[in-house]
Amino acid sequence: MNNQKKGTLYIVATPIGNLEDITYRAVRILREVDLIAAEDTRHSRKLLSHFGISNPLTSYFDHNKHLKGTVLLGKLMQGLSVALISDAGTPCISDPGYLLVRNAVELGIPVVPIPGPSAALAALSASGLQTDSFVFEGFLPNRQGKRRNKLLAIKEEERVIIFYESPNRLQATLLDILQILGDREAVIAREITKIYEEFTRGVVSQLITEYEKRQVKGEIVILVAPGENRTTTKEVSIPDLLDKFMGGDKLSLKDAVKRIAVETGIARTTVYIEALRLSGLNRAGSDDE
Ligand code: SAM
Repeated sequence: MNNQKKGTLYIVATPIGNLEDITYRAVRILREVDLIAAEDTRHSRKLLSHFGISNPLTSYFDHNKHLKGTVLLGKLMQGLSVALISDAGTPCISDPGYLLVRNAVELGIPVVPIPGPSAALAALSASGLQTDSFVFEGFLPNRQGKRRNKLLAIKEEERVIIFYESPNRLQATLLDILQILGDREAVIAREITKIYEEFTRGVVSQLITEYEKRQVKGEIVILVAPGENRTTTKEVSIPDLLDKFMGGDKLSLKDAVKRIAVETGIARTTVYIEALRLSGLNRAGSDDE
């Protein structure tokens, strides 16, 4: 039996943008540990040098998590203390770390959280949406089919839903949310704690229109209110509406797109792109407004 005192694994939250958001305790722990395991050592080196921390740094990321995890667990078993940090926010929350924590727990290694920023909670706290119950979904799948299936699975969710998203997928994701969850109240929290921090509020169709007008950059959290909170909203299905106007009312694609834009408040180009996608047409601009 190994009677050696085990080291502690600290799960240390770091800022999601503004360096002032690190806690005193996080700085102290990062100074005191024997080793810091970081998702991206070059990125974290900047943070650590800002706080005058020069402790040994090693990498721990998704692709080396099995091998490096074993090394880190070995050091912890020998009595060394390790702090795990990620590129931003709280490790293990849409970031690597879960497996390391799980294995450490199984080995009886003490695991201590050093709480601090997390984009999901920061976004929720200032969203203006109900905060008493919510669900965190992290990133939706990249592939549209899987993304839609995921949204279908949570269609009946009665809590606020929090998603992480990248700027280049924002419009596609909002469109899928609109079609599957409906035109619910939602908030886009962008660049939280940074210079261009922005909270955009509205129903999903308004947000689609808003973000169509400009190039979206930076980091994004999407928050969607429960369906039952909908006051001004209606279920929107672009395929059904196209079917109704083109099949039933025999409108041309151009006129059907116009009608849907007027009735739903969704921008014409958005409806048109979706109509092209649905009909499998790849030619652009032939029946445009
Ligand atoms: N572990 C982190 C946390 O606790 O928030 C999240 C890491 S996850 C890989 C990165 C995603 O978090 C980004 O794509 C974005 O969706 C969200 N995020 C991180 N920082 C953000 C910020 N300053 N503003 C808005 N969203 C942010």
